[in-house]
Amino acid sequence: MRLADRVCLITGAGSGIGRATALLFAHEGARVTVADLDPAGGAETVRQIREAGGAAHFVRVDVTAAEDVRAAVAEAVRAGGSGRLDVMFNNAGIGHVGAVEQTEEADWDRVIAVNVRGVFLGCKYAVLQMQAQGGGGCIINMSSSIATTGLAQRAAYTASKGAVLSLTRSMQVDCAPHGIRVNALMPGTIMTPFVEGYLRRSYAGREEEALAAIRRRQLTGELGRPEDVARAALFLASDESMFVMGAGLAVDGGLSAGKA
Ligand code: NAD
Repeated sequence: MRLADRVCLITGAGSGIGRATALLFAHEGARVTVADLDPAGGAETVRQIREAGGAAHFVRVDVTAAEDVRAAVAEAVRAGGSGRLDVMFNNAGIGHVGAVEQTEEADWDRVIAVNVRGVFLGCKYAVLQMQAQGGGGCIINMSSSIATTGLAQRAAYTASKGAVLSLTRSMQVDCAPHGIRVNALMPGTIMTPFVEGYLRRSYAGREEEALAAIRRRQLTGELGRPEDVARAALFLASDESMFVMGAGLAVDGGLSAGKA
């Protein structure tokens, strides 16, 4: 088992990539705290983990609320039983479609609050815990392939994911003396409720056509699956990535490599 008895906290674990990662981490022996705004989604993830024989519990968290995040870290440590937090995966995030001049200030603030402040708070309380336990630990932040390549109509979202990548690199420098590794994931288009919702809202009645266009820009001709990202997260969370620090790992089916 690659994460035997490791204490892991995953935000946004009630759906999509977070759920797939929670399931995989638990399968690899981790004690998983499933953190999400949505209690039904979180409970379903916990149910699936326990059904498969794994260890998990749910905490309701709004990642924009410092007290929620601080309490979630404390709860993960308590439930883990070892006095440690080994892995923090700041995965929760929301999307937004719009060029900069079409973006309402309130929408900008909401995207930055969840995707940047949320990651900042997760990092802050995880680092405080990891320092208090004498160092060691691993933080994974959810960025995106569009942090470095950009995409039409994604002003707030690209800005938020770029900030996460920069924060990750900067943090790694500060965290290295404490034995804490900090890395970012940069997925391409992954078929989750996040993308399904986007297709429904932006391409009502033309979802298949839009999906075909997304497939065409992949070198694989297919979208990624949540499990593809979960496996990359497992690598970053495990000791196998001991020498991987401050990286942005592309999990995008070749999207960032270039056009075919
Ligand atoms: P998803 O919508 O399936 O899951 C996101 C989860 O985050 C949901 O369970 C939701 O309830 C939770 N959440 C939202 N706001 C929250 C908050 N304030 N506090 C706590 N939880 C909150 O999305 P997904 O596709 O699994 O995306 C997960 C992450 O991966 C996001 O950060 C997203 O930006 C990123 N990402 C996704 C893709 C993709 O194509 N799906 C690509 C690159 C990056």
